[in-house]
Amino acid sequence: MAEYAFKILVIGPAAVGKSSLIRRFVNNEFSLQYQFTIGVDFMTKIVEYEPNQTARLAIWDIGGQDRFKMLRRNFYDGAHGALVVFDLSRAQTFSQMKKWIFDMYQIMQKEVPIVILGNKFDLISEIGEVLDRNELHQYAEKENSFYFETSAKTGNNVEKAFIEITQRIMGKNF
Ligand code: GDP
Ligand code: MG
Repeated sequence: MAEYAFKILVIGPAAVGKSSLIRRFVNNEFSLQYQFTIGVDFMTKIVEYEPNQTARLAIWDIGGQDRFKMLRRNFYDGAHGALVVFDLSRAQTFSQMKKWIFDMYQIMQKEVPIVILGNKFDLISEIGEVLDRNELHQYAEKENSFYFETSAKTGNNVEKAFIEITQRIMGKNF
């Protein structure tokens, strides 16, 4: 039995890899087939965020609700923290993501720990960088957050991201 239970949101623009990151973390699977997320989806997983310290994460995938801002209120309710995702291969998703953070705080009427994920890191070697890495780190720092480059495809940094958000919620790094 895990000692703690936390609600973690995974938010960000469409098709950045939110559902894929969750599937990689929870089931260690990946598919290139795009599966549109209908409604709200959630999965649970126990994470060992420190040696012999576990927490049960309820991971909420915002899915098709991205377009219905009104419905987001229920989704955000009671969340302890969020992974905020953009796509390293599509620059516009970074500025869209900033708006997601702004809207979340406005709807929740408080700030919660967040970790920012630049996903699809595996594509950078093919297409090159479309965003300035310094800017990404600076932005995360300004938001009192942490920035990871992840790949749901290779699994790069995926578990680390979930551990980081859990530690921040526990007040270790926040
Ligand atoms: P969501 O709309 O944010 O939930 O995005 P999905 O998880 O459904 O992913 C959108 C598309 O991007 C799918 O075709 C995935 O296979 C693909 N994808 C997701 N993560 C990665 C990644 O890290 N690398 C690559 N190359 N493709 C990814
Ligand atoms: Mg999805």
